[in-house]
Parts: sequence; structure tokens; C-alpha cells
Amino acid sequence: MQTSFTAGQLADPDIRESEGILRKCVHCGFCTATCPTYVLLGDERDSPRGRIYLIKEMLEKGRPASATVVRHIDRCLSCLACVTTCPSGVDYMHLVDHARAHIERTYRRPPGERLLRWLLAHTLPHPGRFALLAAAGRLVQPLAGLLPGRLRAGLALLPRSPGRTPRAGAGVHPARGTPRLRVALLAGCVQDTLAPDINAATIRLLTRLGVEVVVAPDAGCCGALVHHMGRVEEARAAARRNVAAWEALTAGGLDAIVANASGCGTMLKDYAHLLRDDAAWAPRAQRIAALARDVSEIVASLGLESASAPPLTVAYHAACSLQHGQRLASPPRDLLTRAGYRVVDPVEGHLCCGSAGTYNILQPALADRLGARKAARLAATRANVVAAGNVGCMVQIARHAGLPVVHTVELLDWATGGPRPAALGEG
Ligand code: SF4
Ligand code: SF4
Repeated sequence: MQTSFTAGQLADPDIRESEGILRKCVHCGFCTATCPTYVLLGDERDSPRGRIYLIKEMLEKGRPASATVVRHIDRCLSCLACVTTCPSGVDYMHLVDHARAHIERTYRRPPGERLLRWLLAHTLPHPGRFALLAAAGRLVQPLAGLLPGRLRAGLALLPRSPGRTPRAGAGVHPARGTPRLRVALLAGCVQDTLAPDINAATIRLLTRLGVEVVVAPDAGCCGALVHHMGRVEEARAAARRNVAAWEALTAGGLDAIVANASGCGTMLKDYAHLLRDDAAWAPRAQRIAALARDVSEIVASLGLESASAPPLTVAYHAACSLQHGQRLASPPRDLLTRAGYRVVDPVEGHLCCGSAGTYNILQPALADRLGARKAARLAATRANVVAAGNVGCMVQIARHAGLPVVHTVELLDWATGGPRPAALGEG
């Protein structure tokens, strides 16, 4: 694609990077076939290629974002199916990140929208605040029908009652037997409040496999939630805090930083890019990003020799952030098979479920259509249970599907001696 940025514009490193990305696009349109919003809406401006044109024009003109550009970029899920499909290697992820930051800087949203985004950015990444908000939300859940659409959508994502498992506090969980690895676990923010069973299962599984698991006291939200809203400086602040927290562990030897929410893992692996223009932090972020692993990568490296799964058929839902963001399409699925489960794949496995960070709150109508479509595909597999590696997908699918939904590590933990996942009931 031809571009016409001026020399002055190209002095900005972000514009320079986006120009390089834009120039790789050859307009072939292969990406449209796998884009969930184009599949649903059939509007070129809601396809990757259409968005690339809109972003190019916005950046070249150097003007504030228009309402039209904002509408079509807001509808993008950042699912990255287009990146997997593109034969020319267009880095749409960093291009749309740049566009979202430009929108955040130059576009004034209506007051209600600004308030909602502010509320999400100031509660979800903070487990204490989010736990309070979730408790208040449960109280008003019976009145949800009277609330505006987006608040109703947010309330619908909360579990009816808080779980009994405590959140993963900071501390050291020693390896069972001879230690094989020492890792830091990203306990996360929303996940640890909504579904603390996932961290509990991860710690049991890893320590059983001979891994010492450390939850660093000062590590927190990875920054992805605010980053997807274009709030780049808040995301950078989260990244710096986490880099410093995990550096403090490296003196004792650290083999990996483990994420069990794949949206967070994708963000950790991108820390070097996020802090690339910060001379003091760039090399530090690079070292930490190089240690980031999805939990499935660690378990696969250790093996599952003693696993013995109950006779269950599992529909594996590949989260976009795992299959497209981290290109880990098969490891989690292979682990479930190796553990002894019968694993089936839904059709349209490449299409997003509509969760996408805060998308199912900010774009509830589109998210509902994608959620219902995904749930129907999963139900058609006639599996007993759905497994996914990202809490956002789990919550979204559970809301639409009539099937129990669990995290992949909960099934692996169960197959290696852990408890039956709570979502499966008493059995
Ligand atoms: S990230 Fe997903 S929704 Fe956005 S343009 Fe690419 S395929 Fe479409
Ligand atoms: S597939 Fe790649 S090169 Fe083709 S239009 Fe889409 S982004 Fe551009």
C-alpha cells in the first residue's frame, strides 16, 4: 500500500512504525474472510482491510479521529484472526494499538461513554476495587432489566455468587519432590476475583509437576485492559511495575513468568514493544518479556506422564489470544488429549467468542451475536464440557452455552490428582 507521510510526520517513531506496517498490506482481502465483524456485518469498514484504510487516512491527515473512524475501530475485537490469515505479514495488532491511542488522544467521546470507560479502567485492573464492585453488582443483579444496555451486559458477566476459593495471595508455593523449575505466576486482576479456582488449580498442577511457584507481592494487572482502550500510559505504568516486581525474583533464579489468562500472556510477551521508546526500561522489559510463557507451554515442557483423565468429551475453545496472539493453537489441546480426555473441535474455531477484554461490555450487541454463535458451535460437538485458556472467553461462553465451561488447567489438575472442577458439579 502506498503511503504519503511527510518527513516531519515520520520523525515520530509511532508513525514510522505504522507506515512500515501499512506498506506491507497488498489489499488482497484474504483477511476479510476470517474477521468476525466482517462476517457479521458485511461492511468493508468493519473488515481488517477497511480498518487499515481508515487508519492510514486518519494518520496521514494528522487530524483528530472522526466519529466514523471511531465507530469502526471500536467494533474491532483485536482478536488478531486477520494477523494469522494475512499472507503478507501485516502487523495489524500494533497498527490498531496506535489507532486506539490516537483516538484516545484526539476524540472526545459522549459523557456516558467517557464515564463508563473511566469506571472500567479504574476498577477492573484493581482486584480490591473490582471485588467491591462485583459484590455491589450482585446486589442489583435482580434489577438488571431496568438498567441501560452496557451496564446490563456488565452485570450479566458476574457469577451469581462469589466462589469459596480465596484469591492467590503473594507467596511461595514449594515444588513437590525434586524442584525442576522456579516460575513467577501472574495472579492477574479480574480472573483472580471472578474465578480464583483457576490460580488454585494452576498452583496445584505446577507444584505437583515439580515447579516452585512464586506470586510476587508487587505484581498486578498486566495492563491489557487499559491498553485495549487506548490508555497507553496506564498500560506502560502497569508494565513497569510488573517488570520491577519480577526482576526482584530473578536473583534467586527464575525460569519463566507464567500467565494462565492468555490475553494477559499476549500482553506480557509484548512488554518489550510497549516500552521500546523508554531507554531506561526497554532492555529490562525485553528480559522480562523473554521469560513470559502461557501455562500450557510450561506443562508441555514438563510432560504429563502420570495423568489419568476421567472419561469425558471436552470441546476445546482456542482463545484468540492463544491461537492468534501467541500462535499456540495446539499445545493446550494436545495436553488435554495426552491427559486422557477425548477432545473435539467446534467448527469456526478461528472466530472470536465476543469476549475480547471489555468488548462484551462496550459492544454488547455484537458480542452477544458472537457469543450465541460460538455457543451453538460448541453445543453441536455434544461434548460434556468446554475447556478454554482465558477467563474472558470462559465467562462469555458460560453466559451463552448450556454447557459447563472450565479452564484447561482445571482439567489437567483433575487428571493428575486434583479435585473435580467446581463448574462440573458434584458428578
Ligand atoms: S482483529 Fe479481529 S475484529 Fe479486528 S480487524 Fe482483525 S480479524 Fe477483524
Ligand atoms: S490479508 Fe493482509 S495484505 Fe491482504 S488485505 Fe488483509 S492485511 Fe492487507
